[in-house]
Amino acid sequence: MSVFESSVDKSAVNDRSVVGSGNSPASEQPRPPRREFKARGSFVTRCDNCQLPVLNCLCPYQVKAESHAQVWLITHPIEHFKPTNTGRLIRDVITSTQVFTWYRTAPDARLAALLKDPRYAPFVIFPDDQPDYVDRVVGIDAVHAAKAQARIPVFIILDGTWRQARRMFRKSAYLDGLPVLPLRTERETRYRLRKPASKAHLCTAEVAIELLRQGGDTVAADVLDDYFDVFNDSYAASRLHHKIDPPTAAMRRLAAK
Ligand SMILES: [Zn+2]
Repeated sequence: MSVFESSVDKSAVNDRSVVGSGNSPASEQPRPPRREFKARGSFVTRCDNCQLPVLNCLCPYQVKAESHAQVWLITHPIEHFKPTNTGRLIRDVITSTQVFTWYRTAPDARLAALLKDPRYAPFVIFPDDQPDYVDRVVGIDAVHAAKAQARIPVFIILDGTWRQARRMFRKSAYLDGLPVLPLRTERETRYRLRKPASKAHLCTAEVAIELLRQGGDTVAADVLDDYFDVFNDSYAASRLHHKIDPPTAAMRRLAAK
């Protein structure tokens, strides 16, 4: 299983970067990419808040949800600048979400401190397809056990392409002592904005949705799933300069909250 977004990423070539927008991470400011992404659709007016074309602004559907478990994203610097990134959807819905920028040479000090905080039970979300860390692999029952001990389960998701995620996993010494939780799911991706190598490759938001659901945060998972659908549909429609009307079922559910 690979849970990460495909490395076949047409959006990186076709979409405008959002440098200088309101999309900066909660932690330090990432360095801008060396070259700006090409500018298909750069004439389109985007919403300052959600970054989508105003035609299909996501903001009316931004519903907050509470979850017991938390999601901490370690985001590859290049991901921050892709408007198709779905990690930001998690933070939009679940306000406890933490976003860290990954740098190979400088581990984030705030993250390092949080990892030592005994209130949290952090799990690195990663496939168990290599033998050298098999002794660290746990199942979802470990998440429920942490909750039973009044600790806050934390899903640490490496937000990047598959290649970037593997590099982050291997090159981040501060993750070496943490349990590794592979996501086991039958879900097939519904993400339409990047071409997946396989239907089993879920995007970052979908990974969070399934983990939250399996960990018992079903309400938060359902809200995030609807919000993901609205983002996915709205973004795809915007590429065709098409406004979604009438609202989809997910839009109606979120608007009713
Ligand atoms: Zn908006």
